[in-house]
Order: sequence, then structure tokens, then C-alpha cells
Amino acid sequence: MSSARITFVGAAGEVTGSSYLIEADGRRVLVDCGMHQGVDSEGRGAEGFPFSPASLDAVVLTHAHIDHSGRLPLLVRQGFKGGIWATDPTIDLASVLLRDTARLMAEEAEWRTRKNSRKGLPPVLPLYGDGDVEDTLKLFRYVRYDEFSDIAPGVRVRYRDAGHILGASIVEAWIGDSSGDPMKIVFSGDMGPRDAVMERPPSVVEEADYVVIESTYGDRYHKSLEDTRDEFRRELARAIDAGGKILIPTFVVDRAQRILYEMVRLEGSQGFPKMPPVYFDSPMGSKATRIYEKHVSLLSREIQDIVRAGGNPFSPEGLKYTDGVGDSRAINDVGRAIVLAGSGMCTGGRIVHHLKHNLWDKNCNVFFVGYQARGTLGRRLVEGEKHLRIAGEDIAVNASLHTLGGFSAHGDKGDLLAWASNFRRSASFFVTHGEPRSSESLARGIRELGYEALAPDAGVSYDLSSRDSAVVYSRPKAPQRRFTDRESILSILREIASETESIRESLAERSNYEPLFPLLESSRLILQSAKNLKQ
Ligand SMILES: [Zn+2]
Ligand SMILES: [Zn+2]
Repeated sequence: MSSARITFVGAAGEVTGSSYLIEADGRRVLVDCGMHQGVDSEGRGAEGFPFSPASLDAVVLTHAHIDHSGRLPLLVRQGFKGGIWATDPTIDLASVLLRDTARLMAEEAEWRTRKNSRKGLPPVLPLYGDGDVEDTLKLFRYVRYDEFSDIAPGVRVRYRDAGHILGASIVEAWIGDSSGDPMKIVFSGDMGPRDAVMERPPSVVEEADYVVIESTYGDRYHKSLEDTRDEFRRELARAIDAGGKILIPTFVVDRAQRILYEMVRLEGSQGFPKMPPVYFDSPMGSKATRIYEKHVSLLSREIQDIVRAGGNPFSPEGLKYTDGVGDSRAINDVGRAIVLAGSGMCTGGRIVHHLKHNLWDKNCNVFFVGYQARGTLGRRLVEGEKHLRIAGEDIAVNASLHTLGGFSAHGDKGDLLAWASNFRRSASFFVTHGEPRSSESLARGIRELGYEALAPDAGVSYDLSSRDSAVVYSRPKAPQRRFTDRESILSILREIASETESIRESLAERSNYEPLFPLLESSRLILQSAKNLKQ
């Protein structure tokens, strides 16, 4: 092969917005085209692509989550006309998620336009609209798991189980002339745990020249499935006894179905209290569940067995789907209820209103069942903030909060290392899709297994043909901070607290404490000066 290179368009150094450009022998393939999520996303999705969308031959989509698919309609709007390759359920889920994203963006643009017009500022346009989403859906081409597909001359792919959400895939890609010696790059996509419950576990792959591996939980270990289930049972029973609302912020696709399934298990178990009515408060909820039911043959044996026995794994007794806003509001008047609603990180959606109406109540219980990215309302709650401004109101947090990391659709450090260790030692790893601390920690773990591994910065290209020469095509921008407003200061304080916590956690693994002293001592002095600073 004459030349091949990979560019980390997004994802490196953060959890959201996954996208990689592969260029080889004049061919260009994009793997994922994700969008940044979270409160700091303002304007970032609008950044242009560092390539011409029309020049791409194909797009490989690992799974439907918006942080992997959200900018596809923008790509199409800007001239991409090739095929977008994905599994059948990914196409179904992506059509639901992308349409919903366009709707949310239209609402937000309308709201900002109204705000702007009062100040005499120009209107705000959404990144893309319904029409762009429909154009995008027409370009989808479906691939079957485990079969080879030639998606562009000299580019062959095979989608394998990733164990993450329905349809999610690890993608093996062979680049270059099949007559010669093609280079093989494996993209982990997002990967589930080894003991995935609803999905089939991640496929073992052994051959690769390069592996691009996610690192959402690259620096931590989840509780075991058994412990997580015990904890959920104990805490949910206690929450039911407390008699207040039970709120579960959740991604509407996958995590919600998983929680419904855990409830189905509990309601059949001995000694568990009677479940109050369960509301799945999401216009997308029933659509997402129907897609899971349609593709049940791709789910785990555990789920298939229940369906074969005539049961419904996603429908606890008394489950109600609420579609309209009026039905959603009516939940306020119901005393005891379990409410599942999006968004999973509480950055928007109906969960925000349920939180606003219930967090003051000491009998309310909130269960966090998924990852909470930095800067989101969910993260601030999890980090213990007691006073928050939610949808224009100051809210005191008296509710009990529970974090259940074990229901994650992402594998933990142990799962990721176990999967990585299947590869021959000649494979080199790029560690992406995690906060810097996670990516670095996983890269270190992979190096300890005897591989080469590095965590690339976003915006960097690597020449794959010569293996070691990194070419920086655009230097990553330093994060912009405004030190003037209170919010930025609070965000830095939270970061300091979280760094302190992770140093504390790492102490047990450390044999030599000495290098820490001068660094921590000077940090302490700097913090002290900040504290004593005169107004
Ligand atoms: Zn995902
Ligand atoms: Zn992801």
C-alpha cells in the first residue's frame, strides 16, 4: 500500500462526538459522524468538517447513538452522496434518534431566535432540518453481522457484535488492494461488558494492524452485575416504601429497555414490594421498545428465552407510555410512581421537569443508571450539589440519589483490557472516546499487556503506512474558558474536587508517594491564595 492515514476528527480527549477519517490509495471513508452532547455543545456541532463531505466514498456507522451518528445529516447537507453502511437495527434506531435530534434542534433554534429578536440580533438556524434527516436515511445501506461487505473499491468491512446497544458493532476494515496485502484496522465502536445482559457479548477479534478502542470507562471498574442487581433491588424496594416519586433519567434507547427488563425480573421475585405504576415518559419510548421487539433475534439468549416462553421482557405490570405533553404533566399529580424519561444526562427532555418538581422532596429517589458527562445537570447532581437552577427556578436537592454504574452499556477497564488482549501483540492501539484521564489510563493498561498504545488528540492525523510518524494537520485548540462568570468558577471547582478524588482513589495502587508531595503541596498553596484573594 502506498499510503494510508487516519485522522481523529472528533472523540479524542472527550466522550462525545466520535468520527475517524481513513484515507488510503485515493479512497476516503469516514467511520462514524458523531455530535458533541452536553451543555458545552453550544456552537460546537456547527464546526465544519476538516474534509470535503462530497469527497468521501462511504461512511461506516458503528451504532445509532447520536455521539456517533448526529452529524450525518450535516454531512449530507454539505454534499455527501455515498452509502452509509450500518446494521438493520442501527438504521431503525438511527431514524428515530436523528428525527428526534432535528426536532430538538428546531425547538432550540426557535427559542434562541425569539430571545435574539428581543435584543435585535439575527435569527438562529438549526444545524440541519427534517429534510436533511430524510435525505440521510435514503443513503443507508444495510449490512449483516459477520458478513463481508465491499463498501468502496479497496475497502472491505465486516460488522461484529459489540454488546453495547441493539445493532451496535465492532467494525473490522480491510483497506487496500486485495491482491496486495491489505491493512486491517479494527474499530471497537462503543463496547458493552463481557457479561452483557440484553445484547450478545462483544465478538473476539484477533487480527489487526491497528485497533481504535473506546475508553468511556477506561479508568474504572463497574460493580459486578450481581452486586448491581442486589443494590437496585434493595434501593428500589426502599424507594418504593418511601412513597415519593422514583425518577430514572435514562437514554430512551437501550438503557430504558434494560431498566424495564430489570423491573420485570424484580416483580417476579419473592419478597419484593408491589411496584407502583411505571411511566415511560417519552414520545420516542414506545418506538424504541418496538424496535427492540422487532429485532429480538439479535438480542441475548436470556431475552430470547423469555420471548419464546410467551413473556415480554420490556413490560413490567402497570407500564404506561406517555406520548403527549398533557399526559406527561399529569404525572405530576400522581403520588407514587416510577418515571423513566430522557435525557439520560438530564441536559433536556422531560426528566428536567420531573426533577424540578420533585428534587425538593426528601421522599423522592433518583436513580442514575448511565454515564453522566462533565458539565451536565446529571453530573452536578451526582457530584452532590445541593442547590441548582433548573428551568429557571432555584431548586433545593433533598431527594436521595443513587448511582448504579453496573447497568452501563459500556464495558469497564477490565472488559476493555480483556477484549484488547485477544489481539496478536503486533497490533497497535489508538485509545479514543473517553475523558483524557480514562484514555490515558486505558492506554497505560494496554501498554502493560505488551502492545503499543497511545491516546491521540482530536484533530491529529497519523500516517499508518510508516507506522510511527505522526502528522499534525491541525493543532487542537486549547479549551476556551471565561473566568468572569460564576458558572465557570463552579465548573473549575468541581473539576478540582474530581481530580482530588481520583488521586485519593489511586493511592492504594501507588507504591511511591514521594513525587506527589511537591505537586500537591503547591496546589494546596495556590488554592489557599485563591481563598484569601480580596474582592
Ligand atoms: Zn454508544
Ligand atoms: Zn459513544
